[in-house]
Amino acid sequence: MRLTDQPRSKRRLVVAAAAATLALTVVAVPPTVGAAESSLPSGNTEYRTLADYEADMAELATEHPDLVKPITLPYATTSGRTVHGIEISRDVDVDNGKPVFVNVGMHHGNEFPSGELTMEFAIDLVESAAAGDPYVTRLLDEARVVVVPVVNVDGFVRGRRQTDTNTDMNRNYGLGWLPISTGGAAAWSEPETRNIEWLLSTRQATVFNTQHTCIQVVLYPPLQLEAGPAQDVDRLHALASQVAAAYGPNYKALPSAEDYETTGEAIDWAYFATRGLSITTETCPDAGVARTYQTQVLDVYDEHRQAAFTMLETAADPAEHAVIAGQAPKDAVLRITKSFDMYTSPYLQADGSTRPSSFTTTLTDDLDIASRNGKFEWSVNPSYRPIPAYQASGVEGNQTGFYTEPWILTCERPDGTVLQTVPVNVDLGERVTVDLKECRREFHRDRS
Ligand SMILES: [Zn+2]
Repeated sequence: MRLTDQPRSKRRLVVAAAAATLALTVVAVPPTVGAAESSLPSGNTEYRTLADYEADMAELATEHPDLVKPITLPYATTSGRTVHGIEISRDVDVDNGKPVFVNVGMHHGNEFPSGELTMEFAIDLVESAAAGDPYVTRLLDEARVVVVPVVNVDGFVRGRRQTDTNTDMNRNYGLGWLPISTGGAAAWSEPETRNIEWLLSTRQATVFNTQHTCIQVVLYPPLQLEAGPAQDVDRLHALASQVAAAYGPNYKALPSAEDYETTGEAIDWAYFATRGLSITTETCPDAGVARTYQTQVLDVYDEHRQAAFTMLETAADPAEHAVIAGQAPKDAVLRITKSFDMYTSPYLQADGSTRPSSFTTTLTDDLDIASRNGKFEWSVNPSYRPIPAYQASGVEGNQTGFYTEPWILTCERPDGTVLQTVPVNVDLGERVTVDLKECRREFHRDRS
């Protein structure tokens, strides 16, 4: 690990103009403003409000348009609030097929440090890259980072765990879902949950982290003992162990089911749908230590930084995903899609029978071919999808296999006309070259 030798940007986000205004208006304050700044990338000394999060994200995008692009998640919350995020990469506007690290906070609206740590790392990445830090620059050349610091905005505003339908977002994801009291009216009933479904279904999230408090643990699928170990248990455990080690010797890495059993959590659907390495990171001060901003944000940020860099390095590592390569016509759009049914746990249905419900997951992502020669390298999750325990027939634990369904790759005109369709099977760590001659020929034919 090279993490500890890296210089760390601590530039305060507040712009000079704001500081000047402050200096003009608060004349009675002695000149100790600098001392009030913390060692965090933002310099903050207290928890953000929702407006603070939104201002910080907007400011990063405005000040660093080459590195930061705003994202608006598609579904407004139950109470009509919009969920915002940012994408961070070098040349962030160029669609270049980089693997993606999706990092989210605040599934639970009262776990304030989870949003803070997520946001601070985003600022750190951007400020470090803007300052020319070679390590961060390399990682942002190789990968894209998507940050949504507050996914449960309604819960955050009210300072409570659940959404405004009194649903625990992290019990509402469809895979293995059960109608427990906080599970929501149905699998995927919550717009906040569907936002994350959208986020992970429309990009190649090779690593997905959801940040929580307050345990000292890094969790990976499955959620229930009956499901048995995930197919990628070794890879999941390796990542979770590295992340846990970054936080300190008390932190443990283990399957979520061994912590306590739940259903309908983000990481289970995320891993079994996309095969991206999906973890839940819970931070908490040592037993007996008061839970304050100081102990839960300031005191843990350096460790969190190292943990998040571990996740980002793993997301960027070609051994941890797959690559589709080839040559397409300049200005063409490539699209990969797959669509499949997944299942909840069996539960008592309205018709009196006990059986699972099914839902369809559709993964789709596109790549704009902008380079003159049309050559592309597209980092994707493997086409081989782990068979989950949750089946139409009920819970069938200890699955070891993978579905061999391919990515369906289409080569299209910008107007959506499909010129060629190629099924692509590509495994973990593999690089497959697709032949798009037909698309190249057709693309230019009607143009002349
Ligand atoms: Zn939580």
